[in-house]
Amino acid sequence: MPQRARPEILFPLFAPVTALKGVGSRIGAHLERLAGAQIVDLLWQLPGGIIDRRYSPVLSDLEPGRVATLELTVAKHHPPPVANRRIPYRIDCFDGTGEITLVFFHGRSDYLTSVLPEGEVRLISGTSELYDGKLQMTHPDIIAKPAERDTVMRVQPVYPLTEGLSQNVLGKAIAGALERLPALPEWLDPALAGERAWPDWKDAVLAAHTPNEAEDLEPVSASRMRLAYDELLASQLAIMLIRSHVRRQPGLPVASDGHLREQVLGALPFALTGSQRTAIDDIVSDLGSDHRMLRLLQGDVGSGKTVVALMAMLTAVEAGRQAALMAPTEILAQQHYATIAPLAEAANVPCVLLTGRDKGKARDAILEKLADGTVPLVVGTHALFQGDIAFHDLAVAVVDEQHRFGVHQRLLLADKGSAVDVLLMTATPIPRTLMLAAYGDLDESQLREKPAGRKPVKTSTASVDRLEDAISGVRRQLDAGGKVFWVCPLVEESETEDVAAATQRHSALQDRFGDKVGLVHGRMSGKQKDAVMSRFAGSEEPSLDILVATTVIEVGVDVPDATVMIVEHAERFGLAQLHQLRGRIGRGERDATCLLLYGHGIGKTARERLTVLRDTDDGFEIAEQDLRLRGAGDVLGTRQSGLPDFRLVDLAAHGELLAVARDDARLIIERDPGLESARGDALRTLLYLFERDATVRYARAG
Ligand code: ADP
Ligand code: MG
Repeated sequence: MPQRARPEILFPLFAPVTALKGVGSRIGAHLERLAGAQIVDLLWQLPGGIIDRRYSPVLSDLEPGRVATLELTVAKHHPPPVANRRIPYRIDCFDGTGEITLVFFHGRSDYLTSVLPEGEVRLISGTSELYDGKLQMTHPDIIAKPAERDTVMRVQPVYPLTEGLSQNVLGKAIAGALERLPALPEWLDPALAGERAWPDWKDAVLAAHTPNEAEDLEPVSASRMRLAYDELLASQLAIMLIRSHVRRQPGLPVASDGHLREQVLGALPFALTGSQRTAIDDIVSDLGSDHRMLRLLQGDVGSGKTVVALMAMLTAVEAGRQAALMAPTEILAQQHYATIAPLAEAANVPCVLLTGRDKGKARDAILEKLADGTVPLVVGTHALFQGDIAFHDLAVAVVDEQHRFGVHQRLLLADKGSAVDVLLMTATPIPRTLMLAAYGDLDESQLREKPAGRKPVKTSTASVDRLEDAISGVRRQLDAGGKVFWVCPLVEESETEDVAAATQRHSALQDRFGDKVGLVHGRMSGKQKDAVMSRFAGSEEPSLDILVATTVIEVGVDVPDATVMIVEHAERFGLAQLHQLRGRIGRGERDATCLLLYGHGIGKTARERLTVLRDTDDGFEIAEQDLRLRGAGDVLGTRQSGLPDFRLVDLAAHGELLAVARDDARLIIERDPGLESARGDALRTLLYLFERDATVRYARAG
């Protein structure tokens, strides 16, 4: 079916913000930074407060301190003496019952005489105060003519701002956007809308932007609930369209006999844990069925996901087909490759590594082997789903640290074969609610047991004041043959400062420990990072004993001798992140310790968060606690988490609606998979409204 384009009815909302009256390129740039580049983005920018300007007493009744709209006659201007800029510009005003002085610091006389001419009546709205027993108002919010009473005397929405934008300018832009609101066809199930007493879409948007009472700002107000539901429905519907599309692909059962898996298992120096076996059984049975697999494998760092992934991949090879594992960074891809290749070799299965670094002839050679099927296993990065890469017969795609990839990227890999089964892996347990929001329903396997012989890492917390003690501890560990990860704080929004902090720590530690101290940070090239990492891992000389690092990514590497992890300003990391970091140590024979150093003046919650980490080693428990202490939005940082970036949904308040939206979407797909009915048509508009354009094409006829 030809892809239908965005419905015309939405055109007014999908114009650039600069199409609005009074919005030029400068204001446009600010609006874009705050909300987005299109007019529709302004609609989603809901007010966070109100100012009630309906209170309009005469001066004798005026309560100082309360926002009021006054009708005043301008009596006399008192500009400050030219030489003294510290004295404000004052204007005396009165009504039939009293007097008030308007006060302007750095007031411009030409402007003030034009808006407040002596002898004229004006509406003045703002907050007054008593000064020396007299009424005055400093910098009124609004100065208007009496005829404008209706537009002034109302409840004014207050919007969250960004630098460079005032309430006034933003308010006007949003008002302009609201004027363009089309009446859209109703996509809600009438029963639901009726039962909840939700307004229709246009009224809901208008109401959300014209609150009358503080209650109207509550996430559970009827208009905000409706809008949140719309967004959830769009997101669930989009997910289900993609998934039903994927599922509809004829699933090729992967016919395997287990002989390669058996050989590799025999070559492993350990026995699988119970949950690894269960996960493998689930996967093999998914692969053997004729529906497509889409399964999430959750397991803490070190829980042994790689072996499970390898078993899934070998299942494909047993059936004479191919499998790919995709990691988010080169180092992680290399590490996976280093684990997998020798094991695969034990079963005589060729395996290659493909990253962005492979160029020219070397890359061509790899591509050729993938295309003709001589190499059945490949490990790589994003490079794997580039356009020119073709597989002979890709059956299984494993995506590690899946949240680092967008939904789209994950699907692209799935598109590399005719019926690719997908296994997503994550070390960051995702709480149930967030899972649902991100994927709708998804099969999942969890690795909850630690492999035998893994020792818990002893974790303690201390103030940065104890840095010297930490350094003595490091000395003892080095003497005992251990290695140390030293993680430097992430300074928000400033990679430069991150690097500076780490560089400084690096040279301070070099002063103490000499040239055994290495440094990796985000500004280094892949090659440079790898060189340092290999020295730290001991696979290259001269070896390093201490590694100062800024980013989480680079430390995603296995160094069995690493026994100590020190994290500076641990309070700046997410719990899940810290837990991941900690998982990098304690992989060898020796006892391992993790020291979380916190900065001065950290709050109670921050301290509590670190305590969670000290007291438990269970990643699932840590994820739940993190959710409890920080709220859904912050747990992973939405951008990093692969979760939909909701504009109108607050999962804490609207979580209940999520399951409703899921059921709704499921029913829609069941009854009207092509979105052909009248409601289906309205739902297409909904998908476009929330910019799920790409998914509309998955709606199929019939
Ligand atoms: P993850 O990817 O889940 O963080 P890995 O797959 O890298 O964990 O496994 C971590 C380490 O544990 C690897 O060295 C791996 O060989 C080892 N390992 C995996 N499964 C077991 C097991 N059942 N018993 C002992 N060691 C295991
Ligand atoms: Mg791993």
